[in-house]
Amino acid sequence: KAQGQKQQGQNQKRSEEAVTPRSKDFSKWYLDVIEKAELADYGPVRGTMVIRPYGYAIWEAIQTWLDARFKETGHSNMYFPQLIPYSFIEKEASHVEGFSPELALVTIGGGKELEERLVVRPTSETIVNHMFAQWVQSHRDLPILINQWANVHRWEMRTRPFVRTLEFLWQEGHTAHSTPEEAEEEAMKMIRVYECFAVEEAAIPVVTGRKSKLETFAGAVHTYTIEAMMGDRRALQAGTSHNLGQNFARAFETQFTDENGDLEYVWQTSWGMSTRMVGGIIMTHGDDTGLTFPPRVAPIQAVVVPIWKTPEEKEAVLEMAGQIHDLLKSAAVRVKLDASEQKTPGWKYNHWEMKGVPIRIEIGPRDVEKKAVVVARRDVPGKAGKTFGVPAVGLDSYVKDLLQQIQDSLLAKATAFRDSNIVDVKSYEDLKSAILEGKWARGYWSGSDYDEALVKEQTGATIRCFPFAQPSAAGVCLMTGNPASEIAIFAKSY
Ligand code: AMP
Repeated sequence: KAQGQKQQGQNQKRSEEAVTPRSKDFSKWYLDVIEKAELADYGPVRGTMVIRPYGYAIWEAIQTWLDARFKETGHSNMYFPQLIPYSFIEKEASHVEGFSPELALVTIGGGKELEERLVVRPTSETIVNHMFAQWVQSHRDLPILINQWANVHRWEMRTRPFVRTLEFLWQEGHTAHSTPEEAEEEAMKMIRVYECFAVEEAAIPVVTGRKSKLETFAGAVHTYTIEAMMGDRRALQAGTSHNLGQNFARAFETQFTDENGDLEYVWQTSWGMSTRMVGGIIMTHGDDTGLTFPPRVAPIQAVVVPIWKTPEEKEAVLEMAGQIHDLLKSAAVRVKLDASEQKTPGWKYNHWEMKGVPIRIEIGPRDVEKKAVVVARRDVPGKAGKTFGVPAVGLDSYVKDLLQQIQDSLLAKATAFRDSNIVDVKSYEDLKSAILEGKWARGYWSGSDYDEALVKEQTGATIRCFPFAQPSAAGVCLMTGNPASEIAIFAKSY
């Protein structure tokens, strides 16, 4: 009877953990996995989020990779204050227009009304320029290549954990150059860094390109973007790099004397990737039973689950499980041994599956005898993903190879999904039906801002980007019938 009660308790616990199938309700599934896998929780203030250790570990994987790449490309980390005088934000006309609706202001400090209101930074171009203007005199002071890891606040109306929050974590790169060519090269270089992270680390096959004028960052000349297709086929802007031209330099008088002794404004860039990327990873790779993490960003890459009934079995199984754990750990695999006695092996399988761990290693008494283990892949559900009798000797290199295979196969799967959901369109009618089907529409575009706004109003889709990869020939605009030199991608987005 005790056994029966235990079983019942465990079944109950299992169903507490089960998530709404992704295929049934994508939004509900997303919120479920975030809660049940303990990635994040809601803060007491609407739109804020508490990032829990399992979710924060993914952000750390993003940080570690990006930080190393920023340094390799010549950037240094530094830190600017979070509070910015309101007058700074007003200096660049389109910047204040774009950001005003999203600003959080501090009006009281130390119990007294402040003489000047302060802005809680939504981004730091203004304060960065205030300082750059003091640091830059001659062309010999350039380029300045810096980055900061920080939190920012944007008073968003519609929020969703990771994807769009009131406060989020990000890095913001800020650079100043003596020529427009150098600034353009920098902006392009950094969007390629983001693209590389997305594809190689997060296994997300992004479309990289330029934003339309309407979608360009407030204060920038050009915005470059990586656009990812989520599992529900909505687009996610997963990172942006801006060529700011001289807009902020003029507003803040960030000037230098060039080689001829003439006074010139600096040319600038800024670029950012945020905790939104965590949401992107979840929504690209998850499935009906929960999360699936690409091995390179997975907080835990392999979990070892020992199985036993008798005390003798327990001893032998735990000993081997411990050895396997240590072997993998010394091979730099992020491995966890789940030897807890409160849960059944079946419960553990479901639990770590839901948590998206790429590889599960099962060890039972018969495996101990054979000096072998069972290896199960998270990305291939059921029997098909299980390999029996994998020798314990050499398991470290077996697991490392398999992690690489899983990484590659998740990217291939996401790429095939994306490509089968982009439709080439020649007319507005085609575009409308593609969007209605939930797909991305790709076609020649030379329409006006008005035309673009009309598409948004009538279909809910926006221009995600003009991809860098363009057809060799020019074409005809799907909207106006005029000649068009570029194709654009339209989609509904987060
Ligand atoms: P931006 O400075 O507006 O180009 O933002 C840089 C990047 O931060 C964007 O490309 C988004 O991926 C991300 N981002 C923007 N707003 C939010 C938000 N409210 N929550 C999370 N991430 C955001």
